[in-house]
Amino acid sequence: MASVLLLTGCGGADPAASPATSGAPTTARTTSAPATTAATTTEAPPTTTPAPTTPAAPAPVVVLDPGHNGGNAAAPGVVDAPVPDGTGGTKPCNTTGTSTDAGYPEHAFTWDTALRVRDLLTAAGVQVVLTRDDDTGVGPCVDVRGQLGAQVGAAAFVGIHGDGAAPGGRGFHVITSSLDPGGPAVAAGTQALATDLRDALTAVEPVSDYLGTDGLDARGDLAGLNLNTVPAVYVECGNMRNATDAATMSSDAGRQALAQQLAAGILGYLGR
Ligand code: ZN
Repeated sequence: MASVLLLTGCGGADPAASPATSGAPTTARTTSAPATTAATTTEAPPTTTPAPTTPAAPAPVVVLDPGHNGGNAAAPGVVDAPVPDGTGGTKPCNTTGTSTDAGYPEHAFTWDTALRVRDLLTAAGVQVVLTRDDDTGVGPCVDVRGQLGAQVGAAAFVGIHGDGAAPGGRGFHVITSSLDPGGPAVAAGTQALATDLRDALTAVEPVSDYLGTDGLDARGDLAGLNLNTVPAVYVECGNMRNATDAATMSSDAGRQALAQQLAAGILGYLGR
């Protein structure tokens, strides 16, 4: 139903408001029909339909969180400082992340992939907020990242990472917080978001064969999820230490394919 109505365009008038007042038939779609029958059979709205007066629904906001940052390795004093972990304890502000055996760093993978997802979501009418502005800075800390979704009223928060597991393990997995920090309704949204992303990503990458269940894993040790009160996940897009995953994650085509499925999963969750 919704998709049919959307075909009229974002600026389209309410189709229910105009047919009853239809006077002369439009000729736009009745050129092969006799004029005497067009008046009673046409379903096209009159060409004089008034401009809509109701504003379009606001674009949903999605926070994309590209893990780590390119300047982290050179700033251990900042990156190692303790910040709240969402369980009453602390953990380091941020980490440097992993890399492929060939030296392609996780922070570069997450940044490039996030920009690709951003562009796809923006083209679909979604407002995207990134947790960092470039790939040369330091941080922000995980607690700051984890609270951004609530601050901007996000419908979803998606962290993008690459794992650094044993080389024999392959595949992606989607992580949720086991602490349900936003309460039951947000937790249900988180599970739906995780499932939609898992289902979409299987088009380009197998689910992890070394961690989680069917590509899903719940953890209680990630501040960026524990402090998140909107539907929130981290996606470990693959194992950067696995040769097959590394080849995908290191290539433009591989990152674009991953980004397309990440965007598809997010858009599916948003119902768009
Ligand atoms: Zn990471």
